[in-house]
Amino acid sequence: MLFDNHGRPINYVRLAVTDRCNLRCFYCMPEEGIRYLPNKELLTFEEIERLITLLASMGVSKVRLTGGEPFVRNDLMELIRTIVAIPGIDDLHITTNGVLTSPHIAELKALGVASVNLSLDTLHKDRFKSITRRDVFDDVVKTYSEIIDHQIPLKINAVVMEGKNIDDIVPLIELTKRNPIAVRFIEEMPFNGEGNHYPTLHWTYTKILEYITECYPNIYKIQDPENSTSYHYGIPGHRGKIGIIAAFSRTFCGSCNRIRITAQGGLKTCLYDDGVLDIKAMMRQGATNEELTQALLKAFSTRPLDGFEAEQKRKDHLPVHESMSTIGG
Ligand code: SAM
Repeated sequence: MLFDNHGRPINYVRLAVTDRCNLRCFYCMPEEGIRYLPNKELLTFEEIERLITLLASMGVSKVRLTGGEPFVRNDLMELIRTIVAIPGIDDLHITTNGVLTSPHIAELKALGVASVNLSLDTLHKDRFKSITRRDVFDDVVKTYSEIIDHQIPLKINAVVMEGKNIDDIVPLIELTKRNPIAVRFIEEMPFNGEGNHYPTLHWTYTKILEYITECYPNIYKIQDPENSTSYHYGIPGHRGKIGIIAAFSRTFCGSCNRIRITAQGGLKTCLYDDGVLDIKAMMRQGATNEELTQALLKAFSTRPLDGFEAEQKRKDHLPVHESMSTIGG
């Protein structure tokens, strides 16, 4: 087992396979003027395989592929086939916006992918277009249906935004009535790629819960799985569950078991830090596995206590302003 300096196990890596995305969700990326990384700045599949194999040998057993949109990376399925075969990797999860995903669902099921997180902030086609600045709602719905049909564990992630999708909260929850899926509501974070900071957040996790409780007075608390970032709830008569993620309030840092590899191959030991190790540079300068292991262990042994400490220790850009698409949401 791998532990950080605060005694928290580290067994989960989230890897952004690209910074490119085929949507332009207003809370994540600016509409114009995005400078994507040149392809040579992304980790190659061989580098990713080497890194995941090394992390697995150190105690990491769970991988999530994210981005950007993972399915815009060419031959993503090839990478998925490679990762599921790495000894020590028990669970591979994928976070996707679902636009290009539906043709791959059958193979994801066959490969034993553990779950898919589908980002979906609204069930209204027009509103989807205004939030994402792309008219592809039907493609996402197709992916949703395919995932349900193939019985892959599914979590819907919806960012809660004042004046945008509050009246989607109940319709999204209603999806859990017939299907054993999780619908998770996320506090909006300042990672929008534009530098707008939110000194106070209107839709905090407590306000989201109050709103849901008013609509579903019989809502009840469910035990949260270990290391979960989400507070889980059930509603009588619903097959699925509700989750609320205090992503901006940062209430879950005490049990955080995850690290991130950014699209440019940097290590983040906290979502709110600004990168603690340039893994890609080390690899390309010829570092041995032993040298990489030592550098990773050093980074894990100086991990900030929580997202507030990580934010304060940033060398650049305070407050945070990167896009979740480069960090790997
Ligand atoms: N393209 C994939 C997708 O849409 O799921 C993976 C990457 S996306 C950055 C991952 C998640 O980050 C999405 O659920 C998205 O809603 C969330 N996200 C992006 N920017 C955010 C922000 N400013 N606040 C909260 N969540 C955000």
